[in-house]
Amino acid sequence: MKLTGECFCGGIRYEINGTLRDARSCHCSRCRKAFSAQASAYALVDPDQFHWLQGKELLSTYLSQADYGFQFCSRCGSTLCGLHLGKVHGITLGCLNEDPNIEIGRHIFVGSKASWEVIPPGVNQHDGHAPEAL
Ligand SMILES: [Zn+2]
Ligand SMILES: [Zn+2]
Repeated sequence: MKLTGECFCGGIRYEINGTLRDARSCHCSRCRKAFSAQASAYALVDPDQFHWLQGKELLSTYLSQADYGFQFCSRCGSTLCGLHLGKVHGITLGCLNEDPNIEIGRHIFVGSKASWEVIPPGVNQHDGHAPEAL
C-alpha cells in the first residue's frame, strides 16, 4: 500500500510504502499539547518504509525526551511524525491524504482526558496504558 501525507501548508510531503499499525489515540495532557487537540491520533510505521518527498528543510524537530520527539512544519505548525532514536516512529493520522485502511483501535490515558472532551460510547478505552494491539 502506498500512502502520502502532507502538512497544512503543503510545504512538506512524505510517502509510506507499507501499512500502518497500532493506530491509537492518547488523551493525556502531554499529547493534548503536542497535537494541539483533545488527543493524539497516531499510528506506527516501519521507518524503512517512510520517505520524505519534499520540504525536508522546513522540518523542525522537538525532542520531548532524550530519545523521543516530534517533527513539525516550521511554516504552518502541523505535527507530521514522531521520532524514536532519530528515526520516524509513527505518523499523525490527520496529515494523511489517503484512507489508511486502519481505525483507531484503542483510546489510552482516558483517565486524564480534558474535562471538556466527551468520549463517545462504545470506544475501546483505557485509563492508562493498554497492551499493544495485535
Ligand atoms: Zn507546512
Ligand atoms: Zn499521551
